[in-house]
Amino acid sequence: MKDLIIASNNAGKIKEYKEILEPYGFNVVSQSEAGINIEVEETGTTFEENAHLKAYAIYELTHKNVISDDSGLEVEALNNEPGIYSARYKGIETADERNDYIINALKRKRNRKAKFNCVICFIDETGHEEMFKGIWNGVIAKEKSGTNGFGYDPIFISEDGNGKTTASYPLEFKEKYSHRAKATKLLMKYLENSDISKKCKKS
Ligand code: IMP
Repeated sequence: MKDLIIASNNAGKIKEYKEILEPYGFNVVSQSEAGINIEVEETGTTFEENAHLKAYAIYELTHKNVISDDSGLEVEALNNEPGIYSARYKGIETADERNDYIINALKRKRNRKAKFNCVICFIDETGHEEMFKGIWNGVIAKEKSGTNGFGYDPIFISEDGNGKTTASYPLEFKEKYSHRAKATKLLMKYLENSDISKKCKKS
């Protein structure tokens, strides 16, 4: 089996990718399991650039298969903020306070449209790079509700959500409809149609 390094040490993320990618013959390992101890600065201006920066930094060091992802929320009436700054929007410390900020900022706005983005960057051991993007459209709720999920889930009502926030649904809801689910499906389709995974299964 060939190693595939996930450019992250987030246990939840690694577990999810393990489940998706091991059936394709990859031995999925986290950044630290691969012995890499770097913090890549996300200096890009798009989700794609940041995903590339993270994956390429590790590819350069290892010349192994690497996956990274970058995701975030864009709110139309806020000039598509928080966007790539979703995790650290306006320097606000907690997700709960970031949600309050957005609800307040939209108080007098008619346009409540928003979307979640997820970009997955895959670089194979030959250096060939592919990007997969998933978008989940929705609107920002007038108030927070729900306790599931994380980040902006308590204020995001997706197009599939029947008027309820993403945080009001069990995990399976996001596994089926989310931006991450969509990007992941594109990655799996690519792996099924490429011979990388076949080669991995043989070796
Ligand atoms: P990262 O791509 O893991 O760095 O995520 C960036 C930030 O985007 C997170 O810290 C969250 O604030 C936000 N975000 C990304 N995906 C989701 C999601 O599925 N639900 C809620 N917030 C999300």
